[in-house]
Amino acid sequence: MHTPPLEEGWQGALSNTVSSPEELLDLLELEHSLLPDAIKADKQFALKIPRAFVSRMEKGNPYDPLLLQVLPLGKELMEVPGYSLDPLGEHAQTPRNGVIHKYHGRLLLITSGACAVNCRFCFRRHFPYEDNQLGGDNWNSALEYIASDHSIKEVILSGGDPLAANDKRLARLVTALSEIPHVETLRIHTRLPLVIPQRITQEMIDWFTGSRLKPVMVIHCNHANEIDHSVETALAKLRQAGVVLLNQTVLLKGINDTTDSLVNLSHKLFQSSVMPYYLHVLDRVQGAAHFDIDEDRAVQLIKAMMIQCPGYLVPKLVREIAGNTSKTPITL
Ligand code: SF4
Repeated sequence: MHTPPLEEGWQGALSNTVSSPEELLDLLELEHSLLPDAIKADKQFALKIPRAFVSRMEKGNPYDPLLLQVLPLGKELMEVPGYSLDPLGEHAQTPRNGVIHKYHGRLLLITSGACAVNCRFCFRRHFPYEDNQLGGDNWNSALEYIASDHSIKEVILSGGDPLAANDKRLARLVTALSEIPHVETLRIHTRLPLVIPQRITQEMIDWFTGSRLKPVMVIHCNHANEIDHSVETALAKLRQAGVVLLNQTVLLKGINDTTDSLVNLSHKLFQSSVMPYYLHVLDRVQGAAHFDIDEDRAVQLIKAMMIQCPGYLVPKLVREIAGNTSKTPITL
């Protein structure tokens, strides 16, 4: 398997992703019978996978849990009742361009519309990023909104993937946020430490930890195989710099819907000083119905985890319901 050279740098890795279904199947030595459907689904939501992530997939295994997260399938093209383009009602919760304000005390900034990896289950796979980005360096409207609402203690950089933006831009944004007295915490939601671990550079750590804001990072890891040595090294750098590391997982049929898979993931995260935070049932976005698991099965899995793991390794099982004032716990 091709292992990307480290000297490539994160921006090189970001611009050199696998973006053709045919190349992906060839790299993994998989049959081309998967190709016609993959090409059709790719047209609706483009395939995009960093090579470091591909290198962790098992050759010849069409059911590899990392591959299934990113391989376009014909099932995505089926319209299934109950699955919509905007399952969380976010399009109506954008008071300013690039701002999503759903909950008391914290809000999201759509810092970048780009992702390093396109996850087939993404609830924002139909999000109109072109209308909802912090344009260039012109964040004034979003910053004014945050400054005018004294209840906002936490700003969450989201996307897309916020770490797809460049460091100079992000450093300027963090400096501006740190000048708003009532903002205390800066949280980043990202898959980049997993899919391009070279993204965790000293420059990135400096702007993230160098202001008065408390740094929190939530990585979105769904399977233990996503964490290899290079990811562990990146996470160790963040931890040593004082970043609070949390994980949220989406429960995905065929990928992580077994007790063993979830228990392994929690242990692997903890070895890397990342605390399991949320286990989400799928947000019902059009194109992802084949990943969904019913709530009874999700409850069974969490109960089994409670038997096998200490409580601090059992994530909270939640569903996000449009219009609710927080994530909704699924009762056991
Ligand atoms: S926003 Fe997150 S889940 Fe969605 S495609 Fe990007 S990295 Fe994947």
